[in-house]
Amino acid sequence: MNRPARVRAALALFGPATGPCGLCGLPDRRHRLLEAVAENVHAGDGVAFVAEMYGVSETAVLAAVALGRTTRRDFLRAGPPEVPA
Ligand SMILES: [Zn+2]
Repeated sequence: MNRPARVRAALALFGPATGPCGLCGLPDRRHRLLEAVAENVHAGDGVAFVAEMYGVSETAVLAAVALGRTTRRDFLRAGPPEVPA
């Protein structure tokens, strides 16, 4: 899987797509949750604790961490999510 596909797959673990980010304009609003979760783990919080705190699965937390450092470019290249009509 190439990096944009890995980013898309990780984002998909953070619940249904709800559209673009209202804060920064990136195409998938879930980037904020993914980044927050990864930052908490990198800061030393446990995976289970972070999953509970954000209301996401441990699988989602691990996928976010596995991406390593993400950039704005990563989320731009991942493209817009498929939002149900
Ligand atoms: Zn944003």
